[in-house]
Amino acid sequence: MVAIPATLSPSEVPGWDREVDVLVAGQGVAGTCAALEAHRAGADVLIVERASGGGGASALSSGIFYLGGGTAVQQAAGYNDTAEELAKFLLASCDPLDANAAIAFANDCKDHFDWLETQGVPFERSYFGGKAVWLDDTTCLMWTGNEKAWPYREAARPAPRGHKVAGVGENAGAAGMKPLLEKCEAEGIAAIYDSAVVALVQDADGRVVGVKVRQVGGELYIRARRGVIIACGSHNMSEDLIKENLPLLSETSEPLGIPSNDGAGVKLGLSAGAHAVALDGVIPTASIYPPGQLIKGIVVNRNGERFVSEDVYHGRLGNFVMEQPGQTAYLIVDSEIFAYPENPLAKHTLIDGYETVEEMEAGLDLPTGSLVETMRAYNESAHRGVDPRFHKHVDWIKPLDQGPYAAFDISFDKSHYLFITLGGIKTDAMGRALDLKSNAIPGLYVVGASAAHIPRTGKAYASGLSLGPGSYFGRRAGAHAAGANWR
Ligand SMILES: Cc1cc2nc3c(=O)[nH]c(=O)nc-3n(C[C@H](O)[C@H](O)[C@H](O)COP(=O)(O)OP(=O)(O)OC[C@H]3O[C@@H](n4cnc5c(N)ncnc54)[C@H](O)[C@@H]3O)c2cc1C
Repeated sequence: MVAIPATLSPSEVPGWDREVDVLVAGQGVAGTCAALEAHRAGADVLIVERASGGGGASALSSGIFYLGGGTAVQQAAGYNDTAEELAKFLLASCDPLDANAAIAFANDCKDHFDWLETQGVPFERSYFGGKAVWLDDTTCLMWTGNEKAWPYREAARPAPRGHKVAGVGENAGAAGMKPLLEKCEAEGIAAIYDSAVVALVQDADGRVVGVKVRQVGGELYIRARRGVIIACGSHNMSEDLIKENLPLLSETSEPLGIPSNDGAGVKLGLSAGAHAVALDGVIPTASIYPPGQLIKGIVVNRNGERFVSEDVYHGRLGNFVMEQPGQTAYLIVDSEIFAYPENPLAKHTLIDGYETVEEMEAGLDLPTGSLVETMRAYNESAHRGVDPRFHKHVDWIKPLDQGPYAAFDISFDKSHYLFITLGGIKTDAMGRALDLKSNAIPGLYVVGASAAHIPRTGKAYASGLSLGPGSYFGRRAGAHAAGANWR
C-alpha cells in the first residue's frame, strides 16, 4: 500500500505563519526555473526545500538537457534541426500523453536554450559524434537517444539533441544548477531550507491554498494566494511506489538519485485528487557502450534469440533486458570487435571465450541450435549490410564470423542496473495538476520529475528528457501561477 498524506482543510490550520503568492516546493531544476519565472512575473515567491541547499538530483545529474529545433550549438555543429523535426521525433518515440505539450516544448525549444544560456548555464559550441553515456570533458552536443535507431530515424530527421552543460563527468549537472541557484539568490527570491512540505491545504472547492511544512523542531503553515508548485523530484527512492509499480526491478538494480526523491511530489499530488500516470516508467541502465564497437555485437536471451536492436539508447536496451525470460541476456562478440565494456558501474562480466558458435551455445546452456541459427541469420544479412529483423543501423552492422567468440553476461540480476523512474502526476502544458478526467486542480502545479511530462517509458527515453522539459515546464508553471501569459 502506498502511503498518501492527508490534506488539511483551512479550518484545520492553526494559523498562517506566512503568506506568499506562489510557493515552490523543491529547488531542483524544475523548481528553480518555476521560481525565477513566477518572481519575474511580479509574484511574491517562496521556495521551500527539504535539503540544506538547492540543487536536488539535477545537480547530481550528468547535466544533459534534451533540446533542439536549431539551437545555437546545433547550428555551430552543422545540424539544421527544426522544431517540426523535434516534434515529430518526440511524438513518434515518446507517444506523449499530451501531444500539444510536447509540440509546445518543440516550438519553444530554441528560445528555451537561449533562456538557459542567459541565466548563465554554460554550453560550449562543441560536438561529440560517438556513443557515450557521459563525457569526461566539457563537450556539449551529443547523440543521447534513439534518433538514429529504427523506426525513429524514419519518423524524423535524426539530429543530436543532448546539450551537456560545460561540466565534467557523470555529475556534470552541478555546473548547470550553480548559475540557476545564484540567479534565485541574486534576485532576492526567498527560500527556506531543511523544510519539507508534508501536506497540502485544500479548501471546500478543491483549491489548494497552502501547505504544511515540517522543520526540525516545529511546523509551519504557509498560505499560497495564487498557487503551489510541487517540484519535489522523482519517486526513485520511494520503496512503496517502486514495489507497487515496478516489480521487475531486481535485487541488484539500484536507484540513482538523492534520498529526498522519495515520491513526496507524486504523493502530495495524489492527496489533492490529482491523477498519476506512467509510474511504471523506468530507465534501467547498464550500458554496453562505450566502446562503441560492442554495439556491433548481438544481444541474445536465454532462448538464444535477439530481442532488440543493439544500437538503441542504453535505457531502451535495459528495459528489454528486464522483460526477457529470467531477465537473462548475453552480449556476443567476435574477435574482431572484442573489447571489455568500459562502463565501470555496469559490472558486465566476461563469461568465457569460445572457438566456435556451437561451443558458445553449449557453454551458455542455450537450446540446441538456437544461437547457431540466430548467428547464421544475422551474419547472412549482415554481409548485405542489413538487419531485417531489428533494423540495426548500417553503421553498427558487421558479420560476426571472426572466431574465437566471447560472451558477456548482461543479465538484469547479474549486472548492475542503475535506474531512474519516470511518470508522475498528470499535468497540462502549464504544469497544472490534472485529475483522472483531466480537470485542473485549482491552485496546484506539478513539474519536473514529480510530473509525467513527455517521456512515459524508458524504451522511449533519451538522456536529457528530464532536465530539458523539466526546466521548460517549470518555467511555464511559474509564469502561469503568477498570472502571466506565456510568450
Ligand atoms: C546520476 C544521475 C544522472 C542523471 N543525468 C541526467 C541527465 O544528464 N539529463 C537528464 O535530463 N536527467 C538526468 N538525470 C535525471 C534528472 O537528474 C532528474 O530527473 C531531474 O534532475 C529532476 O529534476 P527536478 O527538479 O524535478 O527534481 P530534483 O532535481 O530532484 O529536485 C527536487 C528537489 O525537491 C526537494 N524535495 C523533495 N521532497 C520535498 C518536500 N517534501 N518538500 C520540499 N522539498 C522537497 C529535494 O530535496 C530536491 O532538492 C540523472 C539523474 C541522476 C541521479
